[in-house]
Amino acid sequence: MMANNYWSTTVTMPGASADELPETEDVAVVGAGFTGLSAARILAQRGAKVAVLEANDIGWGASSRNAGMVLTGLKLSGDTLAKRYGMELARRMYAASVSAIALVEQIVREENIRCSFSRCGHLEVACKQSHFEDFSRSSEFMAKEFNHKLRMVSKNELRSEIGSDIYYGGRVDETSAGVNPAQYVAGLATAALRAGAGIYENARVVKVQRNTKKGTGGFEIETNRGKIFARDLLVATSGYTSTVTPALQKKIIPIGSFIVTTEPLSDTLAREVSPRNRMIYDSKHYLHYYRLTPDNRMLFGGRAAFFPETNDTVRRSREILREGMLGVFPQLRDVKIEYVWGGTLDFCFDTMPHAGEIDGIHYALGYAGHGVAMASYFGTKMAEKMCGGDDDIPFAAIPFPGAPLGLYNGRPWFLPFAGAYYKVLDWIS
Ligand SMILES: Cc1cc2nc3c(=O)[nH]c(=O)nc-3n(C[C@H](O)[C@H](O)[C@H](O)COP(=O)(O)OP(=O)(O)OC[C@H]3O[C@@H](n4cnc5c(N)ncnc54)[C@H](O)[C@@H]3O)c2cc1C
Repeated sequence: MMANNYWSTTVTMPGASADELPETEDVAVVGAGFTGLSAARILAQRGAKVAVLEANDIGWGASSRNAGMVLTGLKLSGDTLAKRYGMELARRMYAASVSAIALVEQIVREENIRCSFSRCGHLEVACKQSHFEDFSRSSEFMAKEFNHKLRMVSKNELRSEIGSDIYYGGRVDETSAGVNPAQYVAGLATAALRAGAGIYENARVVKVQRNTKKGTGGFEIETNRGKIFARDLLVATSGYTSTVTPALQKKIIPIGSFIVTTEPLSDTLAREVSPRNRMIYDSKHYLHYYRLTPDNRMLFGGRAAFFPETNDTVRRSREILREGMLGVFPQLRDVKIEYVWGGTLDFCFDTMPHAGEIDGIHYALGYAGHGVAMASYFGTKMAEKMCGGDDDIPFAAIPFPGAPLGLYNGRPWFLPFAGAYYKVLDWIS
């Protein structure tokens, strides 16, 4: 695992399947993160023979590296959704994002996963007066059109929510939750194994080909541990999607994000910086997101490097994020940074999550920083659909755009320009 991920020190991942790869399964799932494991759990519970093929270890991708914010909504605001897709579909999408949190809560309860899941709510803080005014307008919209209440917090009241004076106000959504993501993904893996799924680590898929076996159509899947034939295939590789599935890779923009975590704070300092223990993020395009861990460390993330993480970007992130953290909380000046790591997020060109079928291959990806809840939801829903259940994923019907003018071969050459563009936007808007 890249650098030094605090969450991974809090968990022992379950042992993967030790046997050789089976020759044939009903379903192969590529990727053992929230999407793939949520799907495998349901598929196995419904009686399908399932093999999860993971290039690295269980939870190796974004699922064990994220901030553990289980958030309502999507990356796009409610009014943007309504303008783009019409009010009715936008309402269904938003409702899905809210029910995705209930789904995580239900899985945690049913599978008895110890992962500090807590409905602590989230706080969004305004970096400019105009952002606070936007919050106010969009909160009215959310209450009126989506029947979802957000509580505005004026600058004067903000100290009851956060120990910082740099913001222009904020708003609270009590529906959101927090979780230890590595413990959650470990629990999902245990649940999938218990239901009868096989999980194969160090099984990188290198080639996928349509084929038939004994008269049954399906996919021949070549991995570095051997071949497997499966009737159905679900690709759950998110920001790590590669040339193995080129049609999907061209639609995914991998974006690096980084996190630092301090030593544990004293109870007094922890209560001062985050009196209500919220999941917090700011209103910039190049945003910061932060929270306390269950053992009172400040976990502070941001700096979308617009590149997948490398040892070098991780190292540089440590200083940049520490500066960012002290900009918000100068009172943490003498607190040591103990962990720093990075991971890769998956964005689509329309900033929306997508699930469906492409060349007969099922997929679910594009969570744009909302994958803790949404990947659990999409994985579960795709599995239900593959078992012949209702196709009630509101996102399945929306167009899945590629790069404008098709100018993208899967290598994100344009990301430095996009990064510069967002920095300018933060400056002027
Ligand atoms: C730093 C960071 C902070 C984040 N914070 C939050 C947050 O607070 N809240 C939130 O909702 N979301 C957050 N996210 C996003 C969230 O973590 C992801 O959307 C989510 O984990 C995606 O889950 P997944 O299962 O689809 O993909 P992943 O967990 O990324 O798993 C994909 C897996 O596919 C495997 N794989 C890839 N190619 C192959 C292949 N050819 N063969 C076999 N296996 C393969 C990879 O090894 C990987 O393990 C964050 C992400 C990052 C990086």
